[in-house]
Amino acid sequence: MQPGLYYQGYGGIDGVLAGSKHVFLLVHPDLTTEKVLHDCGNVMEDEEVRLGRDLPFRVDNLDSVVLSHGHFDHIGDVGKLPLNGYRGPFFGHTATKAIVEQQLTYQAQQQWIAKAAERIGEGDAFRKPRANAYPGREKPAFLQKHARQIMENFQGMRYETPFIPNGEQRGFIATLYDAGHIIGSSQVLYEVMVGDSKIKVLTCVDLGRSDCEVPLLRKPHTEFGAIDYCLIEATYGGKQHADRHKSREDLEELVFRGCRDGKRILIGAFSIMRTHAILSDLFWSYKRGKLPRDLVIYLDSPGAAKLNPVIMKHLECLSDSAQRDFRNRQENPFKFPNLRIVRDRKDSVALDKLRGPYVIISASGMWSMGRIVRHLANHVSDSNSLLVITGYQKPGCTGAQLEDLRGEIEIEGKTYTRRAEVVRIRSYGAHADGNDCVNHVVNHVRPRKGVFVVHGDTEPSEWMQRTLASKLDVPVEIVRKGRTYRLG
Ligand SMILES: [Zn+2]
Repeated sequence: MQPGLYYQGYGGIDGVLAGSKHVFLLVHPDLTTEKVLHDCGNVMEDEEVRLGRDLPFRVDNLDSVVLSHGHFDHIGDVGKLPLNGYRGPFFGHTATKAIVEQQLTYQAQQQWIAKAAERIGEGDAFRKPRANAYPGREKPAFLQKHARQIMENFQGMRYETPFIPNGEQRGFIATLYDAGHIIGSSQVLYEVMVGDSKIKVLTCVDLGRSDCEVPLLRKPHTEFGAIDYCLIEATYGGKQHADRHKSREDLEELVFRGCRDGKRILIGAFSIMRTHAILSDLFWSYKRGKLPRDLVIYLDSPGAAKLNPVIMKHLECLSDSAQRDFRNRQENPFKFPNLRIVRDRKDSVALDKLRGPYVIISASGMWSMGRIVRHLANHVSDSNSLLVITGYQKPGCTGAQLEDLRGEIEIEGKTYTRRAEVVRIRSYGAHADGNDCVNHVVNHVRPRKGVFVVHGDTEPSEWMQRTLASKLDVPVEIVRKGRTYRLG
């Protein structure tokens, strides 16, 4: 290979959203190399890939791993790195480090659950979620010791503090800038010395919203100086979000109506930040005296509850108005009279016996795993239940069946008649929409040499490419699997 900087995408590309993995390879003039992996996400859609232990690139010459944020499609395959022999450092925001630690602990526990289930045979699917996740397959042997090894080598960083990821080798300098997507999410600027010249590459994947009137997080950082190349997400290419303020009002109205009618209100929400945005909105209603005094809201999502202290520790990542809410130690979105945090599984089970009105917020956001599956199975056939969808539903998942308002819903292989009312609140999205991304690249990043479109289905990616190409005077490429791009 000639001296220079090279880029390859291995996931979150080519019409696939998930499994983000981006490799930057620097070949020095003396032909020594430096290799940085940006993100190591899991491909949820492909079970073979998700459960396998292989990674699609060489790990033996990898020097460092930089993680943009704590969503599973960006960190879910981190555990496979030690399995493939990687012993080097990890970098990410301190909040990302905390989320990775929680995720790895959970994944390692799941391995034990899978193994235990294998020993004792089939059982109650609710008691052993994902227990039969590995039927007849080679088990990935990811265990607590690997999680420990990763965390010992993980350096938590702050925003806007440059660092050298590759130790003695000094070809890369990296800096994290707030992406405004989830707590700790980062746009990463790589400044790479190729011989005597510097190439600056900025990753904008995933980018938060800047159109919110009432954001929970800060808006994405926009001052970068001169940039040569950028990676931009196409998640919502060609689509426009509804006003975030509207979802706050919609939720308040829905809770009010549900309470008046004595309903059991079940809100499906992703455990990382979506749940917290909803809590923040319910707290807004509480402050305005709009929540009935005797209404109990149960947060029944262990993953979301574990993130509460991480958010409280990183208040600087929140918007000014959210900081004001959270800095109050007496009453804040995680602590107000209507809210109960459910920790024990037996308390979660007991909720299903209660009569409405009450609210349960639970994960997963797609209604296909976690405690919400049991709540749904118990109440989907009850016309006294109100089911609230707050996020994207992958075609085929349980939430998508609800969203389609089907008469019959399949939950863990069993068919239920749906009598519960289903309502969708739009615009809790944490990604910038198409126009927001275009605006970010054209008006703030202003790349001088090229743009790479990643993290989008085929149509949104093509929209993003077309739109950016019409506004910029540089090549705009949709990143393709297996292709190597030379930068510079
Ligand atoms: Zn994300």
